[in-house]
Amino acid sequence: MIPVTTFAGRKVALFGLGGSGLATAEALVAGGAEVTAWDDNPDSVAKAAAGGIATMDLRGADWQAITALVLSPGVPLTHPKPHWSVDLARHAGVEIIGDVELFVRERRAHAPDCPLIAITGTNGKSTTTALIAHILKTSGRDTQLGGNIGTAVLTLDPPRTGRFYVVECSSYQIDLAPTLDATTGILLNVTPDHLDRHGTIQHYADIKERLVAGSGTAIVGVDDSFSSLIADRVERAGTKVVRISRRHVLAEGIYAEGSHLMRAHGGTSALFFDLSGIETLRGGHNAQNAAAAVAACLAVGLDEKDIAKGLKSFPGLKHRMQPVAKIGEVVFVNDSKATNADAAAPALSSYERIYWIAGGLPKEGGITSLAPFFPKIAKAYLIGEAAPAFAATLGEAVPYEISGTLEKAVAHAAADAARDPQGPAAVMLSPACASFDQYKNFELRGDAFVGHVAALEGVTMLI
Ligand code: ADP
Repeated sequence: MIPVTTFAGRKVALFGLGGSGLATAEALVAGGAEVTAWDDNPDSVAKAAAGGIATMDLRGADWQAITALVLSPGVPLTHPKPHWSVDLARHAGVEIIGDVELFVRERRAHAPDCPLIAITGTNGKSTTTALIAHILKTSGRDTQLGGNIGTAVLTLDPPRTGRFYVVECSSYQIDLAPTLDATTGILLNVTPDHLDRHGTIQHYADIKERLVAGSGTAIVGVDDSFSSLIADRVERAGTKVVRISRRHVLAEGIYAEGSHLMRAHGGTSALFFDLSGIETLRGGHNAQNAAAAVAACLAVGLDEKDIAKGLKSFPGLKHRMQPVAKIGEVVFVNDSKATNADAAAPALSSYERIYWIAGGLPKEGGITSLAPFFPKIAKAYLIGEAAPAFAATLGEAVPYEISGTLEKAVAHAAADAARDPQGPAAVMLSPACASFDQYKNFELRGDAFVGHVAALEGVTMLI
């Protein structure tokens, strides 16, 4: 845990007692702050109180005596409308911050020279964050990995010289971190997402821009119009910018040409690393993530050899296009996190011949947007409530069966893939649906897939 010493002896209000909220409250208390916490959910309040956190309805608090409101990133700061605790804090002129802000203040107070790599973007944050941390770790660096990726940043070990922090930041976390000053900041991409919580895409992009604008070195993906303008603006303001791309040849920066990561500098470019054969980094989207990771590792002083070693051994992230097993040449891929059609697209685009397990609780729009990938699908195995609707969309275009359960789908897909005359195929769970009709969450659905695959005859597990 990182005790938050920068609020020692001061009164802090905290709203939002989910996982990271509770950890933040504990870190503040450990550092000597006087914390009063609340949540709209009585169960969360009870849990915090049982853990020794002082709780009270903040509507009755003396806001004049409070130094800061620490807000959970899940609580609306602006859209659709500010939460009532935000209104109260603003009315009293109390600053509103989140756990990432507490972390950067702590780092500045105790070890300002320890490298902080902060990552944001609409897509690819977790993969890039995990990849950078993996490269740093395999090169022997003392590495801490956290933030939006699932480990609350204040539960990490405290800042000290020589320790590297790799922190994934959602736009909500950036919005609550006004002095975020990463050594190296990454903005991967900006596409419309979460606009219910950010109002307009411009507002959403502006928040993401802050992360790179405040960094020592800004690494920016320039494949979308928002990010590309951000790169220019941040550079004009005097920050060192390293551009990355998966779509364009760059004169300066790191770009991908197919599986080749190229490093361009001073008018010449050279092959930096060939990603082909690295299952966990397949696909154009992962080339973008790998380019960003390479640029970040170079920026914090790693050499080419260390970076190559880490890229080669990246184990991938669970449930995100994760190669989990092989039977002969057939690879089994767990992409359970693809809970809608957009999220399934990168996995479908990354393999050439696919036995596709899809379905669950259907989302608006179904799988019609995936039609461009249908020619690659050898057969579809449909499960859950979405099966009839997906069958109707596939129609004559793709052979399918209604398997019903994941267990049946795995068994049938494995048998069919083994007999595929056209050579190496992937059996892939990329459901394009929520899991809740059959599983509690996408993680359990992915684990179930892995379990069924592990029970197949002749299987070699890769995890
Ligand atoms: P995030 O943390 O931003 O949600 P993840 O790294 O967890 O992103 O990846 C989630 C999914 O998003 C992946 O399974 C893949 O489908 C897609 N994805 C990953 N990286 C990118 C990228 N650079 N561009 C577009 N889509 C991506």
